[in-house]
Amino acid sequence: MSLIVQKFGGSSVANAESIKRVAKRIVEARKAGNEVVVAVSAMGDTTDELLDLAHEVAPIPAPREMDMLLSAGERISMALLAMAIESLGHDARSFTGSQAGMITDATHGSARIVDVTPVRLREALDEGAIVIVAGFQGFNRDTKDITTLGRGGSDTTAVALAAALNADVCEIYTDVDGIFTSDPRLVPRARKIDRITSEEMLELAANGAKVLYIRAVEYARRHGVTLHVRSSFNNNEGTIVYNPTETEPNGPAVVPGSSVTPSGSEGLVEEPMIAGVATDLSEAKITVVGVPDIPGKAAQIFTVVAKTGANIDMIVQNVSAASTGLTDISFTLPKTEGQLVLTALRAEQEDSGFKALQYDDQIGKLALVGAGMRTNAGVSAKLFTALYEAGINIEMISTSEIRISVVTRADTINDALRVVHTAFGLDADVEAVVHAGTGR
Ligand code: ASP
Ligand code: MG
Repeated sequence: MSLIVQKFGGSSVANAESIKRVAKRIVEARKAGNEVVVAVSAMGDTTDELLDLAHEVAPIPAPREMDMLLSAGERISMALLAMAIESLGHDARSFTGSQAGMITDATHGSARIVDVTPVRLREALDEGAIVIVAGFQGFNRDTKDITTLGRGGSDTTAVALAAALNADVCEIYTDVDGIFTSDPRLVPRARKIDRITSEEMLELAANGAKVLYIRAVEYARRHGVTLHVRSSFNNNEGTIVYNPTETEPNGPAVVPGSSVTPSGSEGLVEEPMIAGVATDLSEAKITVVGVPDIPGKAAQIFTVVAKTGANIDMIVQNVSAASTGLTDISFTLPKTEGQLVLTALRAEQEDSGFKALQYDDQIGKLALVGAGMRTNAGVSAKLFTALYEAGINIEMISTSEIRISVVTRADTINDALRVVHTAFGLDADVEAVVHAGTGR
């Protein structure tokens, strides 16, 4: 018997009709002879509505109460889903995050899972029940309070359950047919990917791909959980996200509920060079102008930045001009953290001796990701040529082993995305189908 964890997002359980449809789908998996555990998100835009409501009654809602409030969203959908399954004649039981043993640290609003003790879930499964768990929430042992995992956290709930219960696969149901070479809402000819490594998926998620929540991918990678991202609107094969191992370099040969097998069975096969392209418009760029080019200045500047808790992405330092002994340092960060960091840096200006600060929130970032870059030369040249031919100026470049990122003007980023997608031969023959929602 296989154990399958299924996650259904808000757009898949937006109303009674959808809940009944999802219930049928869950029952099918049970009838096929699997043990089934489901993690479910709040219905439709419930979380956003609750957030708005909180801000109507309090300018700065207390974090503990915010988590109490938001966790209610998932409790509504879990109970409704369990009822819908019961009415189809199957035993179903819903559990809150704390009942499910989802133990987190004490950080309200973005808690991290520290332990999963799914004792009650295992018992319910042993009694033949379908288990429904409220996504996105946990419990802290010290404060004894309810926590939430941050926006999109139900993906992480599902992956953590899959790891703790040693599931054969974690199915993430969404409103597109799987993971695409780019967001099909921006690139209509984006191609569905059959299999992708968790390492590549992590880079795509970290660089703006919204189909999977980054913490969930990290968790899956760390715990060796195989994901199957697929549509809740049809029975099409989705995308397998796997962790290559020595015995299974191309991922598991058999994934329950999936018919995609690794291409080629003898050892490593040639994977496509590029997995996908992601874009991100949520970042801004800060340039620290005229930094004295002596040891310790970067340390000083980034210590100040680190104290704000801001998440720095790209960092670029120019070669110092020999005549002046000064250099510029630019970095990108979420726009939401821009003012905080500027204020902190201004306070440090005299002490660290830089000349000025520049802030630019009209940037876009494009990231090209593929494990095949490791063994293929000329990827950068091809990328830069494609952008040049489209008349798009590159403002920053950064690379990792399997990624090249560039920063351009925000208003050119969608054009950049399309030309790069085409240049790397990723365009499909047909347009992708987007069923609903926003890609979550
Ligand atoms: N309901 C939460 C949110 O909208 C968690 C989730 O959907 O995964 O962010
Ligand atoms: Mg949601």
